[in-house]
Amino acid sequence: MLLMEQNKRLPKLCDDNNCTGCLACVNACNNGALSIHANQEGFYRPLLDADKCVRCGLCEKSCPVINKPVANSSTSLEVFAAWHLDDNVRRQSSSGGAFTALAENILNKGGVVFGAAYDENMRIEHIAVEKADGLKALRLSKYAQSYIGKTFKEVNKLLRNGRVVMYVGTPCQIAGLKKYLRKDYENLLAVDIICHGVPSMLFLQSYLTWVEGKYGKIEHINFRDKRKGWYDALRVVKTAIGGEKVLKGDNDNYWVGFSNNNNLQYSCYKCQFQAFPRVSDMTIADFWGVGKTKPFGHKEEIEKGVSMIVVNNPAKKYYLDIPKDRMYIEHRSLEEAKLGNNTALKESHCPAGRATIYSDLKTMDYDAFSVKYLSASSKQKLVKIFREYLPSGIVKYIRLRNQK
Ligand SMILES: Cc1cc2nc3c(=O)[nH]c(=O)nc-3n(C[C@H](O)[C@H](O)[C@H](O)COP(=O)(O)OP(=O)(O)OC[C@H]3O[C@@H](n4cnc5c(N)ncnc54)[C@H](O)[C@@H]3O)c2cc1C
Ligand code: SF4
Ligand code: SF4
Ligand code: SF4
Repeated sequence: MLLMEQNKRLPKLCDDNNCTGCLACVNACNNGALSIHANQEGFYRPLLDADKCVRCGLCEKSCPVINKPVANSSTSLEVFAAWHLDDNVRRQSSSGGAFTALAENILNKGGVVFGAAYDENMRIEHIAVEKADGLKALRLSKYAQSYIGKTFKEVNKLLRNGRVVMYVGTPCQIAGLKKYLRKDYENLLAVDIICHGVPSMLFLQSYLTWVEGKYGKIEHINFRDKRKGWYDALRVVKTAIGGEKVLKGDNDNYWVGFSNNNNLQYSCYKCQFQAFPRVSDMTIADFWGVGKTKPFGHKEEIEKGVSMIVVNNPAKKYYLDIPKDRMYIEHRSLEEAKLGNNTALKESHCPAGRATIYSDLKTMDYDAFSVKYLSASSKQKLVKIFREYLPSGIVKYIRLRNQK
């Protein structure tokens, strides 16, 4: 090691409880001194090999927690309700399918789309898609931390070669991407989602192993199945032998944990990236508040799912110039957008059971574990009965009748 390098200090990255696992630091290191490992709870974290480190400080500079990137101006936020006009795409999407409409537009420009997909072992990872038939794998929210790997490096290369790139991720991942890139590229559309936090892959895999014990090998899980409508999404797995199974009652306990926030990474309880104004160019989300502050003229569309699009960076608004036969879009207000998503736009509360949930996950029998940590409240049980057992026509009729 050179004498000059020895005189500089080793990098001081985030401690485990502040790190979001965005992996911008790992992507920034050109010396192979940072690798990716899973911590005790299964969250992705950087691991330093001091012998390979030349103490250049690039990793620290790229960390969005240590050096928060500058957010866009709050005065220029524009909010839209939108949905994809292909009903199949919309049914296969979490909300209105705005993601697919934006992504198709990028692919039509010869671009590349990055998003989260399941691999063959049901692990969630960010991948690059260059053809429209690849978008199906990216559709739908996957409710655990996605593995970013070295995708930021790939993005950098593509942008420098003049390719148009759309990257979708959690707000902390997009903050990491922006810090890593160090400058804005006109050919980058950085899109984040509204996000109240993520459990680890370890948590999701433990749950899926338990479900596999009942139904056999699982090939896919849809957390947002719309057969009872968008508001009343069900969890549905595709198994290797038995086809589709709707996860009802206690079998749906992963969803209870996710809704109760007792299994999120610690940095989610003090998230710096959720509130508007944001760092991303656009935000996509479920438009739960649509129609709550001013009349909405498409009540019958609501049960199919409505996406919210927030344009955080006006300079990138032209990426919304999507053919009218692909996406319906209309102006709404930020107030309405915030109304239905109030809790997801500020840090999640850290519940008491959080301290022991992961250590117990590793040591307890899963049935006993789920009784201790993943039992639905009486209110949650009632909602589940309504969704899971009433015929879809009745569920949708009641929801439609309650729309203003
Ligand atoms: C963990 C998580 C929590 C969320 N919480 C909320 C919320 O509280 N309120 C709300 O309004 N919306 C939330 N969303 C966003 C919402 O579920 C939809 O993603 C959004 O409405 C876009 O839907 P769509 O129909 O346009 O796209 P879809 O086709 O559903 O596309 C989903 C997009 O999200 C990306 N994505 C999926 N899973 C992950 C993941 N694990 N990490 C990073 N990116 C991922 C995919 O790459 C894809 O681009 C959350 C999403 C995730 C992943
Ligand atoms: S200081 Fe430089 S060499 Fe060391 S880990 Fe960070 S980026 Fe890599
Ligand atoms: S850059 Fe991301 S992964 Fe690296 S220390 Fe910071 S928050 Fe953690
Ligand atoms: S809540 Fe914040 S820290 Fe947690 S995954 Fe979402 S954006 Fe990242």
